[in-house]
Order: sequence, then structure tokens, then C-alpha cells
Amino acid sequence: MVQKVPPRAATPPESEPPKRTVALEDLAGVGPTTADKLREAGYTDLMEIAVASPGDIAEAAEIGTAIAMKIIAEARRAADVGSFELGTALLERRKRLGRISTNAKSLDELLGGGVETQAITEFAGEFGTGKTQLAHQIAVNIQLPPDQGGLNGEAVYIDTESTFRPERIVDMAKAAGLDPAEALARIHIARAFNSNHQMLLVGKAQELARERPIRLVVVDSLTSHFRSEYAGRGELAPRQQLLNKHLHELLRFADTYNAAIVVTNQVSSRPDILFGDPTRPIGGNIVAHAATYRLYLRKSKPPKRIARLIDSPNLPEGEAVFSLTTEGIRE
Ligand code: ATP
Ligand code: MG
Repeated sequence: MVQKVPPRAATPPESEPPKRTVALEDLAGVGPTTADKLREAGYTDLMEIAVASPGDIAEAAEIGTAIAMKIIAEARRAADVGSFELGTALLERRKRLGRISTNAKSLDELLGGGVETQAITEFAGEFGTGKTQLAHQIAVNIQLPPDQGGLNGEAVYIDTESTFRPERIVDMAKAAGLDPAEALARIHIARAFNSNHQMLLVGKAQELARERPIRLVVVDSLTSHFRSEYAGRGELAPRQQLLNKHLHELLRFADTYNAAIVVTNQVSSRPDILFGDPTRPIGGNIVAHAATYRLYLRKSKPPKRIARLIDSPNLPEGEAVFSLTTEGIRE
């Protein structure tokens, strides 16, 4: 049975970003030239400046660090950041956490009830372990109503390896009782050509989220471009810095729009020149710190896969078995 879900009008996100009536030019120390340079470098609103480092602002606007610090302080005041938040407010925000089912009960349970909003969930594993299949399945399930494991939402899918397959969405949507064409129309896909483009797409997702109920951002794969572009030993620091910035922009999206972030990460079966241990997900500590939930996937007797939860702040470590089928992820 195909269940028709009426196309949704854009609903305002549950947590509206703070109102910003101050333009970059209104900040003391920011003239039109500096404002233009900042915007060109991607600093389009006060919040972005407020949370940036003086070095980044100085470089972007070609100004001295002292002026950059002053601009940041001004932006913080105008955007009202850096103040404390009450524990009660934080608890309220956490109460609005949404969860998306993966279709596999044991995997959902391992995650404490499904993939969580306001968090980054990382699927790491060797080729063929089901990372991309899981990403597809979650992009379909986000569209379902809450009593069926979704959030009535839409997805942004940042594809870095050209492995997004609409046919798989059709298969999975049919199996979930969704109209396949409508399901495809609720997934906004962008091919990221390089790491810089990949980072820019998070900004684009933000623009889209002002109009559409985007509750999921998939980045498949988080690390492939960074890994190939910054391959040498001397490039580890810039790579990690950019990856860190990228992850924090994703986290900010998650907080602003009460959205889930799902990223995939390949684990090389051949030793990485930078991270000798082959079972270690790429990106080292940076990804480990930013990802709220890290699942390490491995192959079992086909079509079975095993997911192991590592480093969770509030859930016990454990394992879950799931299957990759034509209809999608199954218990
Ligand atoms: P990589 O690191 O190469 O990106 P991955 O972890 O993303 O790998 P997936 O593409 O998610 O791997 O998984 C591929 C596996 O999914 C296949 O080996 C197969 O077992 C399963 N699979 C893919 N398509 C189908 C399908 N139509 N029907 C059944 N199983 C499928
Ligand atoms: Mg893949």
C-alpha cells in the first residue's frame, strides 16, 4: 500500500535562529571593504563571526589580529553569544530531541531509540559494510511520521563519492509505504566536488532549511575529499583544522534546526600513513570529539552486518546485528 503524504509547506524550525537585525557593516571596525571580504570568505552573519577565531577573521578580511578581536567581540555582543544558558533551558532543548529509525530494532536500541537530532552520528567501516545503505535508509525514514520512526522531515544529502542511487530510494520508499516520487522529492542531493565545496554546501543547506523542513543532513563520505586532498604528512594540521570547522558547522546546523547529522567514514584496510592503525576511522581525534555517536561497522555472514557503538557520552557500548536487503536495512 502506498501511503500518500501531502507535500508539506515549509514549517518554521522549532528553534528559530536568533533574530539578527545588525548588518556586518554596523559593527565598529567593519567598513564596506572588510564586510565584503568577510562575506566572500563565507562569514555572512554575525553568529559566524562571533564564533570564529581571531586568526580566521584576520586572514579572511586581511586585517590585523587586534582589529579582528575587536570585531569578534562586537559580533558577540550583537549576536548575544557567549553568555550562559540555564540547565533548565538545556533540558528543555534536549526534550525536543527527535529520533529516526534505521529499520533495524537492535540498531535503534543500540543508539538509544534511533538516530538522534541535535547530534552527529558517524557510521565508520570498510567498503561494503553498509554505510551508504544506512544513509539512504535514514533519508527515507526521516520522511515518515513520528509513530513510524520518522520526523515528517526532508533530507539534505551531500554526496562526495557519487554513490547516491535514486533507485535505492525508490526500493526503500516502496517498502516503507511512501510514494517513491514524493520520497525522492524530499531528498535534496548535492554532489560535493572537493572538500571546499563540501564545506560550502553546509551553508547552502542552511539557506534551504529556512524554507524546507530539513531535519537530516547526510555527508557520505565525510572524509574522502579531505583525505585525498591533504595526503602528505605535513598536511595533517590544515586537514584536521578544516575538518574540525566542517564538523562544527554541521553541529551548529543540528542545533539550529533540531536536525540529525549522519556522516560516513571509511576505515582503511590498509594502514593509513597518518593513522597507522587500520581499524581507526579516518580523521583521528577531531572526528572522535565532534561525533556524538560513532558506530563501527563490520561484515558478518551475508547479508548481515555488525555495528558496534564506540565512545558514547550517555549510552553503554554494545553491538547490534542488521541486514542489507533489497528493501533496505532490516533487523
Ligand atoms: P564504501 O566504503 O565503499 O562506500 P559502504 O559501507 O558505503 O562502502 P554500501 O554501499 O552501503 O557500503 O553497501 C554495499 C552493500 O550493500 C553491497 O555489498 C550489498 O551487500 C548491499 N546492497 C546494495 N544494494 C543492494 C540491493 N539492491 N539489494 C540488496 N543488497 C544491496
Ligand atoms: Mg559508501
